[in-house]
Amino acid sequence: EYADTPLVVDHLRKEYADGFVAVSDVHFTVERGQVVGLLGPNGAGKTTTLRVLMGLTQPSGGEIFVFGHRLVPGSPVLSRLGALVEGPGFLPHLNGIDNLKAYWQATGRPLADAHFDEAVEIAGLGDSIHRKVRKYSHGMKQRLAIAQAMLGLPELLVLDEPTDGLDPPQIAEMRRVLKRYATDGRAVLVSSHLLAEVEQTCTHAVVVNKGEIVASGPVDEIVGDSPTVQFDVTDV
Ligand code: ATP
Repeated sequence: EYADTPLVVDHLRKEYADGFVAVSDVHFTVERGQVVGLLGPNGAGKTTTLRVLMGLTQPSGGEIFVFGHRLVPGSPVLSRLGALVEGPGFLPHLNGIDNLKAYWQATGRPLADAHFDEAVEIAGLGDSIHRKVRKYSHGMKQRLAIAQAMLGLPELLVLDEPTDGLDPPQIAEMRRVLKRYATDGRAVLVSSHLLAEVEQTCTHAVVVNKGEIVASGPVDEIVGDSPTVQFDVTDV
């Protein structure tokens, strides 16, 4: 079951050690070809959900399936998943491509599997990939981080607030990057606290508030005058 579905999150719950329930009941799926936006205000539980997905923290309940395989630490199916959840630290004195190579080497996977050129191209880095990272703007660093998450061309790309701090033209560019990535049977899951941003970059939205799903479905059904989306709708 779900063998061809990149992600199934089934009644996920996460209660922190202090008893705080950050995620009480979150369930959604991500299908191939979709760019799904996990949308909610600060503190809604988006990062917690993505961190559980990446195996960075253990769930208190529920299950996650990646291509039909129950997600457990060290599962080989994790190689089909690439993510930008914690901001990566780059080596400022190296250029972009050498940073990507250093990162990939640390994963221990064969160089030929990295697909550096394609990741750099999809992320729209162009010639700046040969410039030292210390000369990068915030937007360029963000793209490099996304290229890093794209290495190996994972079938499911997971990004936590990738448009954080970007200006409107850069957000428009991000839309192209994400839509392009979600072709060839791939899919993207991205978090955001801005409705307008999800509207612009995603095909589907899962709206969370206080650890629970408020609405989910195709973006054009979720946005507009949906009374369920009442929080931060600050435009970009
Ligand atoms: P943001 O956009 O601010 O990151 P978010 O939707 O990603 O918001 P989370 O980071 O998942 O939200 O946090 C959800 C709630 O869980 C917050 O109220 C936060 O304070 C709480 N929380 C996060 N980490 C812990 C922790 N280690 N222990 C206790 N509570 C935590």
